[in-house]
Amino acid sequence: MVQKKISVKQLETLKRSLHEMREREVKDIEDQIGQELNIAMTRKIDIAMDMEDWASLDLDEGIDHKLLEMRYRTYKEIADAFRRLEAGTYGVCESCGEMIPVDRLKVEPHARYCVPCLTRMEELEQVEKGTGKRSTL
Ligand SMILES: [Zn+2]
Repeated sequence: MVQKKISVKQLETLKRSLHEMREREVKDIEDQIGQELNIAMTRKIDIAMDMEDWASLDLDEGIDHKLLEMRYRTYKEIADAFRRLEAGTYGVCESCGEMIPVDRLKVEPHARYCVPCLTRMEELEQVEKGTGKRSTL
C-alpha cells in the first residue's frame, strides 16, 4: 500500500474537526461537572486521573466518573493532536513512524497510532488486564 502524505487541504479539514471535537468535549465535561473548565479544574482532573482517585475531585455525587474520565481522556488526546500539529508530526504513528492513513484520521482526527499498532497494543492491554492488577469497585 502506498502511503500518501496528508495534503494541506486535508490537514485544514482535520484541524477544523479537531477544533470542533475539542469544543464539544470541553462543553460536555463542563456540563457534566457543572463548572467551567479552567486551569485549576483541569489540574484537579489530571491529578485524579493519575491517582485513580476520583473521590478527591469533590464533585457532585451524581457524576458518572467513568464517563467523565473517558471524556477527559479524549480531551487530552485532542490537545495532544494539536501539539503534534504544531510540532509537524501530526499523522505519523507514534509507534512505528509510518503515516496514519488519512481515511483513519478523518474518522479519528486525534489518532496517534496506525491501525496495526493500535490492534497490537489493545491485545497487549487485554493481556495486562487479565493479570488482575486492577482493583474492582
Ligand atoms: Zn504504527
